[in-house]
Amino acid sequence: MHRSSNEPALQCDACGAEIDGEPGGHGLLVFVRGDEVVREEPPLCERCALAISVTALQRWEMEEDDG
Ligand SMILES: [Zn+2]
Repeated sequence: MHRSSNEPALQCDACGAEIDGEPGGHGLLVFVRGDEVVREEPPLCERCALAISVTALQRWEMEEDDG
């Protein structure tokens, strides 16, 4: 990838696609480093943001069913 612009292109954290403009959403990663909790919100393309939010909803519904 060759870019002359100083602005680095955003890349989807899930599929690696270049994001043109605003990201479709953000994932949420939580790491625990020692006593510290580190949160990262990697950019996602629209497709992955949608897919991940749908997955999260389905998981939530399954958990509801379980109880
Ligand atoms: Zn993606």
